[in-house]
Amino acid sequence: MKYLLFFIMVMFTLFSCKTTLKIVDKPIIFNEQRSQLTLKYLSDRYGLQQQEPTITPKMIVLHWTMIPTFEKSFEAFNPAKLPGRADLQAASALNVSSQFMVDRDGTIYQLLPETTMARHVIGLNHCAIGVENIGGTEDLPLTRAQVKSNIWLVDYLSEKYNIDYLIGHYEYTLFEGHELWLEKDEGYRTKKTDPGVDFMTKVRKATEKHNFKSVPKK
Ligand SMILES: [Zn+2]
Repeated sequence: MKYLLFFIMVMFTLFSCKTTLKIVDKPIIFNEQRSQLTLKYLSDRYGLQQQEPTITPKMIVLHWTMIPTFEKSFEAFNPAKLPGRADLQAASALNVSSQFMVDRDGTIYQLLPETTMARHVIGLNHCAIGVENIGGTEDLPLTRAQVKSNIWLVDYLSEKYNIDYLIGHYEYTLFEGHELWLEKDEGYRTKKTDPGVDFMTKVRKATEKHNFKSVPKK
C-alpha cells in the first residue's frame, strides 16, 4: 500500500511537471493593413509573390526584447505600422513582431499564428518562427523560467513542423549566402547580440535530441 501511494505520488509529480506549461493566446493586431504590409515585405525584401502572408517554418530564432515588461513589449509589437526606427523604416513600414513572447516568469504568449510571417530577423522571416524573451538588459538578465519555457516551446514546435535550425538572433548573418537567406539588400543589416550565448547554450543542450543542423560557418 505504501509503495502504491509512493508510485501514485511520483506519477502525479511527473505528470504535473509535464503539463504546467501552456500557451496563452494574446494576439497582436493583424488587420488588412498589417496583412498588406507583410505581403509587400515578402515581395520587396525576398522577391516572394504570395496571396497570403504565411511562412513554412524551418527555423526557430530566439530573442530578447530589452524591454522590462510584457505589457510594454506587447505595446511595441501591437501596431501594424513601425513607429520610428529609421534604420528599419527604409526597408519596410511593417512593424516588428514575433509569433511568441515569453514573460520573465516563463508564461508563454502567442501573438500570431505560427505560420503567419512576423518581422523579427532580417533575411529569414519567410521561414523563421520568432520567440521573444522579456528582458535581456544587465539589470534584467533572462531567467531560468524563460530557459525552461524556451526549451518546452522548441520541443513543441519541433514536433509540429520540420524545423532544421535553432538559432540565436546574434547568429543570423551566418546565413548570408545560405539557400534560406533571401534578403536582397546587402546594406540592410542590424547588429544583434540577443538572446546571449549562455541562454542559447542552455536551450541547445536541452533540445539536442532534435538533431538540428549546425549553423553555417563563415
Ligand atoms: Zn532579436
